[in-house]
Amino acid sequence: MPSARELILPLRGALVPIPAQPQDGVCSICHSSAKPGFSHCLPCAEAAAADPPEILPITLSVHGELIHSHLRNYKDSPTAGVRSRMSLRLAALLATFMANHSRCVGEWDYATCVPSATRVALQPVVDRIQLFAGRYRQVLTSGPEAEARLIDPARFAVSPDVRGHRILLLDDTFVSGASVFSAAGALRDRAARVVGPVVIGRHVQRGWPPSAELLSWITKRPWDETRCARCAGERPRASLF
Ligand SMILES: [Zn+2]
Ligand SMILES: [Zn+2]
Repeated sequence: MPSARELILPLRGALVPIPAQPQDGVCSICHSSAKPGFSHCLPCAEAAAADPPEILPITLSVHGELIHSHLRNYKDSPTAGVRSRMSLRLAALLATFMANHSRCVGEWDYATCVPSATRVALQPVVDRIQLFAGRYRQVLTSGPEAEARLIDPARFAVSPDVRGHRILLLDDTFVSGASVFSAAGALRDRAARVVGPVVIGRHVQRGWPPSAELLSWITKRPWDETRCARCAGERPRASLF
């Protein structure tokens, strides 16, 4: 069995570090690009009134590139071997992140994944990770996602009782944030404490000017497993103070 380090090797060149916040041009909730002078990206600006939790992305996922392809095809490839290979790499990436940033993530009792209406796509990935053995409970189920782009905690049923539990919320991709924010809202409504949420990839489009600006400098930096958005996010220029 290859090590986690060996498994993520094919992803290394495509992993993009996460910018620190606060800084101009970076969303204070999801760490993606924001327009100059704005503290939130567009989806998070809409979500801000609900006081959503700060997202902890492992990498930026550039539309159409290798990480984006993994985050789609680990669940949707028609080829079982492709799904399996990509799931294993993503599991190695998530395990590596959790091993290096337990303090940044904070204490949690068990993990749960953000489900879609039809499946819990990330569960087979989480099931491969030793850290979650005995510390994973799928307490969220999703109703129909007719209005999936809106934040609506009622979309998710929560069972069994989660009152007072510290729940690490996991998702594969953050696009509009509607799913993860709705899931966090559903857990909070049941008096759970949401930890993380950790998402593997914060989806970005090169065609969106604020993202193009961010990617122009941040993709020159190597992704480093010992750094995350909370403990050592990137800034355009290293500063002493
Ligand atoms: Zn945002
Ligand atoms: Zn960290």
